[in-house]
Amino acid sequence: MSAKELLEKHRTYFRSGATRPLSFRIHQLETLKKILVEHEEELVSAVYKDFKKPEMETYATELGILHDEISYTIRKLRNWIKPKRVSGTLINFPSSNYTVAEPYGAVLIIAPWNYPIQLALLPMVGAIAAGNTVVIKPSELSSNTSSVLKKIIDAWFKEEFVTMVEGGVEVNKDLLDQDFDYIFFTGSTRVGKIVMEAASKHLTPVTLELGGKSPCIVDGTAKIKTAAKRIAWGKFLNAGQTCVAPDYVLVHSSVKDEFLQELKNAVKGFYGVNPKLSPNYARIINGDHFERLCSYLEDGEVYSGGRFDADECYLEPTILSSVKRESRVMEEEIFGPILPVMEFNSIADAIHLVNAKPKPLALYLFTENSTTERLVLKECSFGGGAVNDVVAHLGNRYLPFGGVGNSGMGVYHGKSSFDTFSHTKSIMRKPTWLDIPFRYAPYKGKLKWIKKILN
Ligand code: NAD
Repeated sequence: MSAKELLEKHRTYFRSGATRPLSFRIHQLETLKKILVEHEEELVSAVYKDFKKPEMETYATELGILHDEISYTIRKLRNWIKPKRVSGTLINFPSSNYTVAEPYGAVLIIAPWNYPIQLALLPMVGAIAAGNTVVIKPSELSSNTSSVLKKIIDAWFKEEFVTMVEGGVEVNKDLLDQDFDYIFFTGSTRVGKIVMEAASKHLTPVTLELGGKSPCIVDGTAKIKTAAKRIAWGKFLNAGQTCVAPDYVLVHSSVKDEFLQELKNAVKGFYGVNPKLSPNYARIINGDHFERLCSYLEDGEVYSGGRFDADECYLEPTILSSVKRESRVMEEEIFGPILPVMEFNSIADAIHLVNAKPKPLALYLFTENSTTERLVLKECSFGGGAVNDVVAHLGNRYLPFGGVGNSGMGVYHGKSSFDTFSHTKSIMRKPTWLDIPFRYAPYKGKLKWIKKILN
């Protein structure tokens, strides 16, 4: 079936009204939850085949986060879909006013490979909750997971309601040529621009969940051991292939040596002396990304790690020190297990360095000083982040998740997902028993009154 025919099928189904009742939406969400339980083993092993991701990580960052989101959405949906009353204004007296969350229609979700289950299905939860039909294009790079997902989706959902379309760039281009009612894209900033350009031809609204270089600042007052452990966890989780992983660290010169030592200790504590043998450490997704990452090793001094094995796409958790600000590793999003650590002498310098780069998806700050905290949070613009932790904010469904500027536009997770996939329709209801003639011509003598009312 062509992309055009697929969209027509979805649109016809949407227009039939089948996706609108609360009972239908809840049933589909329950089905999704059931799928995740019934096919858990298959999904975990597909992700393992793709990049040897440890089961604990697959559960916590893919399946667990989905279960949490689905259960929460099912609990809240009845309330979310209710029309919301808003105040009236004097000029329109008498009136009652409300907003209604209306589904967009046929939604396209495009996903990347690094969390291949979560990033394909989490937006789908919001899209279904809001009453849309969904076409999902997973990444061709995580092909084992994508094909298991497709098999499951085909088996459990009507094709005209949820369809997974496997394929690469060409397939995606065909989909992007169609006039979907909403496009939700997760991926690189480069492709995000292609998506937005395609969407502009049909004035299709978009959410762009993109990447970037997320900085991590460790100031002189930080609890160094805890900071090092949390940063090492967030960086080397999924072998650094996490959109919100700390990309680089800026550490105050007074604590740099201690921090580097603690970072090294943390890595050893997590993965042992030879992480290659650890069941807790993932691999790089493919040879191209592996080569790209290895080329960064020359951009600084390898403080620890640095060993690799091309046959296995294995790259050891690596800490780089003495990194030049103009080097490629400091210009491009790393998206792998290499952590450049650079020192600063004043917090103003650190802020300046962060602000010299495009707005990142996340920013992390380790400090015990509330003035520093206020200053950094005020001066730096970024999608979202954490103080004294990394990555964890993504797991809180009450925090809208998304980027700003180069790292994206729009937010999702929890209620924000429902809002993202809903158009807010505003309605004013007027009674007919009263028709105040004030607004009608002739206007003579009315101007001074309207000025009084509206001022
Ligand atoms: P990508 O942009 O290369 O690919 C994403 C999707 O776009 C894939 O489905 C791919 O098939 C498709 N695509 C690729 N090139 C295309 C083209 N020329 N035209 C049309 N479609 C195309 O991203 P990726 O390598 O899969 O993922 C890594 C990137 O995603 C990183 O930059 C990372 O930071 C970002 N990311 C962001 C988030 C977030 O939530 N903000 C989450 C995960 C990953």
